[in-house]
Formats: sequence, C-alpha cells, structure tokens
Amino acid sequence: MQYEQIYRRSIEAPEEFWAEEAKAIHWHRPPQQILDYSNPPFRRWFVGGETNLCYNAVDRHLAERAEQLALVAISTETNVTREITYRELYREVNAFAAMLKQLDVGRGDRVVIYMPNMPEAVFAMLACARIGAVHSVVFGGFAAHNLALRIDDAQPKLLIAADAGMRGGKVIPYKAMVDAACAEAQSPPPKVLIVSRGLDAAEPKVAGRDEDYAALRAQVGDVEVPVEWLESNEPSYLLYTSGTTGKPKGVQRDVGGYAVAMAQSIRTVFDCAPGQVMFSTSDVGWAVGHSYNVYGPLIGGCTSLLYEGLPINPDAGIWWALCEQYGVRTMFSSPTAIRVLKKHDVDFIDRHDLSELKYLFLAGEPLDQPTAQWISGALHKPVIDNYWQTETGWPALTLLPGLDMKPVKFGSPGFPNLGYRMKVIDEQSGEEVAPGQKGVLVIQPPLPPGCMSTVWNDDERFLKSYFSHFNELLYSSLDWAIRDEEGYTFILGRTDDVINVAGHRLGTREIEEAISSHPRVAEAAVIGVHDELKGQVPLVFVTLKQAAAAEETATLAAEMMQRVTSSLGAVARPAHVHIVNALPKTRSGKLLRRSLQALAEQRDPGDLSTLDDPGALDEIRRALGK
Ligand code: ATP
Ligand code: MG
Repeated sequence: MQYEQIYRRSIEAPEEFWAEEAKAIHWHRPPQQILDYSNPPFRRWFVGGETNLCYNAVDRHLAERAEQLALVAISTETNVTREITYRELYREVNAFAAMLKQLDVGRGDRVVIYMPNMPEAVFAMLACARIGAVHSVVFGGFAAHNLALRIDDAQPKLLIAADAGMRGGKVIPYKAMVDAACAEAQSPPPKVLIVSRGLDAAEPKVAGRDEDYAALRAQVGDVEVPVEWLESNEPSYLLYTSGTTGKPKGVQRDVGGYAVAMAQSIRTVFDCAPGQVMFSTSDVGWAVGHSYNVYGPLIGGCTSLLYEGLPINPDAGIWWALCEQYGVRTMFSSPTAIRVLKKHDVDFIDRHDLSELKYLFLAGEPLDQPTAQWISGALHKPVIDNYWQTETGWPALTLLPGLDMKPVKFGSPGFPNLGYRMKVIDEQSGEEVAPGQKGVLVIQPPLPPGCMSTVWNDDERFLKSYFSHFNELLYSSLDWAIRDEEGYTFILGRTDDVINVAGHRLGTREIEEAISSHPRVAEAAVIGVHDELKGQVPLVFVTLKQAAAAEETATLAAEMMQRVTSSLGAVARPAHVHIVNALPKTRSGKLLRRSLQALAEQRDPGDLSTLDDPGALDEIRRALGK
C-alpha cells in the first residue's frame, strides 16, 4: 500500500490504526481502550492492556526460533565475540532476573545500568523488563559526576556496572567511577552488582554493598522467573537526553505503546524481518541503542549485532567485515561515525562482499551532503537519514522502505512517520508556513505510541520543556525545518542555532554545508557571535582531513569563506575561520555549539557534563586567544 494512504489512516483514525498495529505484539490481557486523551497533552495508549517487553523480545520467539542467533556481541577491545541464540538469551535473562529478585529488586524499582556494549548489559535490561523494574542505562563514557546526577534523579535500588570499559585499548575503570559516584550521590543505591571481565581487578569490594555477578550467576543456576505482566502505561525505562542544550531530561517510556512502536518500526522503517540481521553501531546507552540494538530487533525476531570498539580498529574496514561475515541486511549508524571513516580509504569498504546489505540508516544530527554522498557512493546502497529524539524513541521523519520506498533526497530525512502529526509553523504566529519556508517543527499531540510519557518525576518539566512554546498545545524540541513542495522535510538545526546577521536569519547548518563542500574539510561548526554593528556574525571552526602547513591556513580560510559567499551571499560571510584539531562534542557525537558560542562571547561555557573531550575546548580557547 502507498505511504500516503497508510499515513492518512494513522492520522485520521488513530485508534483504529493502532488497534490493528497492536496485534503485532503479545498481550496477556488485551487493551480495554486504545487511547485515553482526557488529560492533554498527557496520553495513555492501550489502557488496561497487559504485556511485557521481555516476553515479546525473548519468550515469544522460543517456539519458532530458539536456535536462531538473537545477539552477536563483538568486542575489538577485548577481542571476544559471543554468539547468543534466543534459547541462550532466555536462559541468561531468566538467571539475571532471579539475581535481581535476590537483590530485592521488584516491580517499579529503578535499576541503573552502567556498562559498555557487552551482552550482560542487554541481559540486565531485559531482566529488569521481565520483572517490571525500571532500568536507566547510563552511557559508560560518562564519568562519576554524571553518574551521580542520574543516580540522584532515578534513585535506584541497584546499580549494575562492568568492572571496566575499554576504548582504543585503554582501560576505563568503571568500578572506581561507581565508587566515586556513590560517594557523591545524595541517595546512593544500597546494592551494586559488578560484572567483571577481569579488566580491573584492583578495586576493593565495598562490604555489604557490592555483589559479584559471576558468583551470583553460579549460585542461581538455571531457573525460570515468571514474567510480570504490566499495565501498558507503567514505566519501562528512563533514559536521559544528550544534554546538547542544557541539563539532560529523564525521558520516561511506557510498556505497551513502546512494544507496538518497536514491532512496527523494525518492519516499516528498517525493513528487517524475523531471521534477518540488524547492525546498529550505537552504544546501548543512547536512544538508538535501546530501540534498535535491543528492543526493536529482538521484538522483531531478528539477529542484533552489538559492537564494542572503535570503528577504525583493527582498521577502518571492521564494520564492513562484520557486515560480510554475518550477512547484515540493515545497518544503522551516525553521521559522526561516517565522518570518521571518511578520513580513510574507500578501499576499506570496497574489499568486502556487501551483497546482503540493503540499507545504511543514519540519525542523530544533520547529515551533510558531502558525507551522505561519500558513503552512498562508496557503498552503492541507499543511505537513509532519519530524524528523531530520545523523547520520541523511534523515527519521527523517515522514508519507510518497509512500506513503500520513496527516492532519497539528500539533506532530507523524508516524511512524517506513521502516527506522527507534524507541521512546520511560524515561530511568531504559530501558523503553518508555506512549502519552502523556514519554520519550527512541531508534533501535534497526542504523541504516537512509543514516545515519552513524561519527564521522570517531573510532569511540570515535561510541559514546560516541550509544550509551552506556542499558544496552541504543540510538542516541540525546537528544531528548524523546511518542507518542500513534495512533502520532504529538511532539518536546519536547532532554533537557538540561528544566526541573525543584520536582520538576515541564517541557519548554522546552511553555512556548515557550504564550508564542508571544501575538499579539505572534515567537519565544520558555525556559531553566531555578538557583533556591535550587525547584531551577530558567523564564526567558523573546522577540522581538516589532513593537517595543513602553517603557510596554507590563510589560503584555506579564504577559500572556505569564498564558498560561503558564493552559495549564500556576502551576508553570510564568516568573520573568521579557525582551523582546529577537534570540535567540542557531546558523548553522543553532537556539536556543543552553545559552548563554542559562550567561549567566543567570553561567557561561561555552561553545563559541560556531557562533553566528550575537554581538550577540545582548551584548543578553542587558544584559537580564540582567550
Ligand atoms: P538535549 O535535548 O538534552 O539538549 P539532544 O537534543 O542532543 O540533547 P537527543 O535526543 O540525543 O538529545 O537528540 C535529538 C536531536 O538531535 C533532535 O532534536 C535534532 O536536533 C537532532 N537530530 C536527530 N536526528 C537528526 C537528523 N536526522 N537530522 C538533523 N538533526 C537530527
Ligand atoms: Mg533535545
């Protein structure tokens, strides 16, 4: 069926549409009401229905695919690969659930999980889901302070951590950070379960608090723990946003709506059927990791590849080698990762047999045209941009190759996904803008199934952060967009990323695109800085594919400025181009423009808790001469 038809039905008759979609999952008790929207903008999907994420991701597949691989965990850090069938997954998740119960964790209790991409992280998530505990995975790259903040917000009964992580061969001592975080937190968890890989044996056990996973696992043996049937709207997990625009928000997800969204999107968006292989390169600590490393592919009966390591280790061909080896059909990564690979020879891709690979999906930040063209030219496969947020939990704008694949248009993630009522409106008037006009992207509530229920413990913040920007009750995370005549939506960046030069409103992304078209540029960040005369002027920071000689920099900068002037006009001409070695990014790979801008305007760079590499900001300070 055509996208237009199905989409229209999802919008015009949402209850009918979702009642039908809900049949894709197992319900212990069927929903009594499809949608309750009596308290806008809060909404409840599949009210009265009882189900369980773990049952749908694991138990349900035992009859038909017990011997099929559920999970393949490859680590190029520890050089261990583990292939786990659905039967083995069932066994490990049940054992883990038994351990959780022994540690006094029950329905509604929070469990913080602080682990890299290793199978036990997935077992832990599913075990929580099985017994109705609410997991909150904290990205393993965060240090003690970030962990402490999330502990205090989630108030977990248990923290599950790896002894250590590894990045590029360097051991990252998680246990030491757990101890520091517990010391800093106001309400540290009474119990800590350490999953040791023997990477960091040095940290002493805290008596009465620390438990050892291997010891408990041996003790519980092979047991079965009955599934806890949850009402559709009970919380399943909490996940904090990336913190690009400020303090991270604790996104709360439900059970039934999320299960249905996963069952649907793995098929329609990712075109991955039972038995097929999906490889998402995300960390389990991000939204993509939750939805498309764990819940989506497993609910869909697929095989999920979980990768721990750098994309260039042992060489820049590792991901494609894995695609070849496991016959990956659907791959999912981020523009940041592809820009890393772009610095290496395409031969790393060419030498692999990628005949099984059908698509590469990319999400998380604007996909610039040079990067999109480079990777689609190298792979000879469709590269599909998709736009979403931690809050939505699954793609909001996308092409739907599993339904009806529209042609890819560079720079656009495509069309509203099923159930998403999206508009581009004028910031001031709130009126829908004409095609080709810039506006703010909004979702008309009720949000579809799978999207966040609220901010954990903070309904006020949910309303204020997402629903208070316009007179009408509209959801927005404040991204700029344009919709063209054919209905393709283009994301131009965040509304606070707009530069106002003498009354001309320029998107940072437009300028970045012009700069990135220079063949020497690896990545560009553009910010607006205060200017007495013009209000604001653009300032550019770039990294190069190969370092430039000192005498070259002035010419390169002039060439880049020329590109901006010729594509956007003299008004967009940057005041200065700074060539640097690294740009400040969040741990999830997003540019921290607000910090760049603050430094350039000699202000406090703000909340840096999610900054990846503090050295990057020092270099910027030096470049700015501050
Ligand atoms: P915070 O909300 O804490 O400031 P964040 O918005 O970076 O952090 P995420 O939920 O990880 O947290 O990111 C969602 C945002 O990422 C979107 O609102 C959008 O700005 C950007 N984004 C995601 N996918 C795309 C895409 N395909 N194209 C352009 N931008 C994208
Ligand atoms: Mg956001």
